[in-house]
Amino acid sequence: MGGHAFVISGPSGGGKTTVVARLRRQLRDLRRSVSVTTRAPRAGERDGQDYRFISSARFDALRRHGQLLEWATVHGASYGTPKRPVLDALDHGWDVLLSIDVQGARAIKRLLDRRAILIFLMPPSLEQLRRRLLRRRTDTPAAIRRRMAAARREIACARWYDYTVVNDRLDHTVRQVSAMITACRRAHQGRPSAAAGQRGPRKGL
Ligand code: 5GP
Repeated sequence: MGGHAFVISGPSGGGKTTVVARLRRQLRDLRRSVSVTTRAPRAGERDGQDYRFISSARFDALRRHGQLLEWATVHGASYGTPKRPVLDALDHGWDVLLSIDVQGARAIKRLLDRRAILIFLMPPSLEQLRRRLLRRRTDTPAAIRRRMAAARREIACARWYDYTVVNDRLDHTVRQVSAMITACRRAHQGRPSAAAGQRGPRKGL
């Protein structure tokens, strides 16, 4: 039987990167999809680990040659999920973790249907999200306004995710998401689990 794709989305600045890093340390047998992007690396980001940083020409070539499972433009840059590594891992029975935006999540759900499990990381409030973005000091005031507008649009999509987790305290969030992933995996292996019952209705897909 094939593996599952666990897709994590949420507004940028909401702590998604930290949650994903912690999940990977806890759930070592999850494969993480490394996306390609045309945006410039941020301080501390490593090519091939955080993203594959590529030119727009290369991105277009990958897209044209059908080598991306999904792609989207987010905050003015292109992002995409390389197709082969994800499909190969799933075919070999590995579960894969994807940290992608709401457009990508929708595309992955269409492609993989029940083999895709969508988890939305919800900021405790828009005001807290704005404060986190200000604290990061990586964005201009105009960029923060754009990210806040994008956050509102993304939050509106949370209703068609399988799960929503309010990201208030990091430890708590990681525990909850990790328990969900573990419960899903057990359920699909045919083993009963209490947490598996938390899965919400799937609407609008
Ligand atoms: P950042 O530039 O802050 O790392 O990411 C910006 C947004 O792009 C985030 O919401 C992130 O989840 C999303 N993203 C990263 N990789 C991909 C991808 O391969 N596909 C899609 N659709 N979104 C992505």
